[in-house]
Amino acid sequence: MVFFMYVPFVYMLCPQLSFSEPFLTEQGLPEIPSKFLNLAKRPELFEWMVSIRRYLHENPELGFEEFHTSSLIRSELDKMGISYEHPIAVTGVVGYIGTGSPPFVAIRADMDALAMQEAVVWEHKSKVAGKMHACGHDAHVAMLLGAAKLLQERSSELQGTVILVFQPAEEGGGGAKKMRDAGILENVDAIFGLHVSAKYPIGVVSTRSGPVLAGCGFFEATISGNGGHAAIPQHTIDPILAGSNIILSLQQIVSREADPLDSQVVTVAKFEGGHAFNVIPDSVTIGGTFRAFSIESFKYLKQRIEEVVTLQASVQRCNATIHFFENAKPFYPVTVNDQKMHEHFLNVAGHMLGIESIREVPPVMGCEDFSFFAETIPGYFYYVGMVNETQGPLEFSHSPQFKVNEDVLPYGAALHASLAATYLLRHHSQKVPQKRSFHDEL
Ligand SMILES: [Zn+2]
Ligand SMILES: [Zn+2]
Repeated sequence: MVFFMYVPFVYMLCPQLSFSEPFLTEQGLPEIPSKFLNLAKRPELFEWMVSIRRYLHENPELGFEEFHTSSLIRSELDKMGISYEHPIAVTGVVGYIGTGSPPFVAIRADMDALAMQEAVVWEHKSKVAGKMHACGHDAHVAMLLGAAKLLQERSSELQGTVILVFQPAEEGGGGAKKMRDAGILENVDAIFGLHVSAKYPIGVVSTRSGPVLAGCGFFEATISGNGGHAAIPQHTIDPILAGSNIILSLQQIVSREADPLDSQVVTVAKFEGGHAFNVIPDSVTIGGTFRAFSIESFKYLKQRIEEVVTLQASVQRCNATIHFFENAKPFYPVTVNDQKMHEHFLNVAGHMLGIESIREVPPVMGCEDFSFFAETIPGYFYYVGMVNETQGPLEFSHSPQFKVNEDVLPYGAALHASLAATYLLRHHSQKVPQKRSFHDEL
C-alpha cells in the first residue's frame, strides 16, 4: 500500500522510542500534532481502522438503527479499557478518557448510513440492499476509534477528560439533538467534529470561522382537488395545475423577498401525482427543503412557504395541507464555528500538516446536525481531504459511486486526538477541579 511509504523511517526503526516517551506537555505543544500523526500511521493502527471501516461499510445501518455499529464501538472501547455510557439516543455511545475532571473536551463521529444502493463494485461493497455508507460515516467511526486508541495510550498524560461522542442519525434524524437533549454536553467546554471531503487532497483540511453550513428544514404538502376525465377539465378541480403554480410561486420567495446578500434556498425536490395520460388525479404531493444562514430568514421562509402553498392552492380552488416534520426531521440550526476554536484548529493543523495545507472553505447551503452541539457549546467543524490526485477524482458524498480513500483514516484520528489533547493542555490551568456526576466511574 502506497500509504506506508510516508511513515517516517526513524519511527519504523524504533517505534517504541516515540511511543514510550511522554509528549503531552506544554513545552512540547508544537510537536504534538505531528507525533500523533506518526503514531496514527503505524501499520497495525492503520490496518485496524481500515478493518473497522470496511466492516461498517459492508453492514450499513440507517439512523437510530445503528445497533451493530454501536455494539462494535462498545466492544472496541471495552478492549481498550475505555469506560462509556450507552444507550443514549437509542444507539449513541459516549466514552471517557483521561482524568475524569475538567476541562472536558468532546470529539464526535456520526454512525448512520443512507437509504441508497451502492454502485461501487469492490470487495467490501455493502451487503445490505438499499443501504450504503455514502457519506463516509463508516470512516468517521473508524477515525474516532483510532483517536480513542491514540488518546488511551496517553491517558496518564492527559490534563483533563476527552469525551468520545458516537451519535446516531445525522442524515435527517437529528441524532445530535437527541444526544444533546440527553445532557451529554453538561459541563463540556468545547466539541470538535470532522467530515471527510472528496474535494480536497489527502493531507489538506478545509474550514472557516463563523457560519460554515446552513440551517435547514423540510416540508411536504398535499394539494387536493377533484379528479376526473382529462378531456373534460371543466368537471374537475385540477391539483396538477395548482401544484405547478405553487412550485413557481415558491421559487419567487427567495428571488423577490430575500436580501440577495443573505443566502437562502427553497427547493421543491419531489412532485408526485397522476398515473394515467387521460385522468386528472384527485391530489398531488410536493416536497422539498429550505435553508438559510440566520434564524430570522429561516423563520420567514417557513412562514412564507406555508402561506404560498395554502393560498396559491386556493387560487385554483384546491385545498392544501403542509407538514414540516419538526419531530421526525428537526430543523437543523446553522453550523457556526467558534472563533477561538478556529485559532486553536489553525495552530494544531498548521503544526501537523503545514499552514499551506489549510484551505478556507466558503459557507455552503448543506446542513449538519453537528449544529445542535455547536449552538449549545463552542463547536468546531472541519473537512479532511481524501483525494489522491494520482488516482483521479472521487465522487461526492451521497453518490452511489462514493468511495473513501482509506489513507485519510490516520489524518482524521490524529486531528481528533491532537485537537482534544492540546485543548486540554491549553485550558487545564483555568479550571477548578470538579467532577461531573457521570464521570465518577473513571
Ligand atoms: Zn450525508
Ligand atoms: Zn455526512
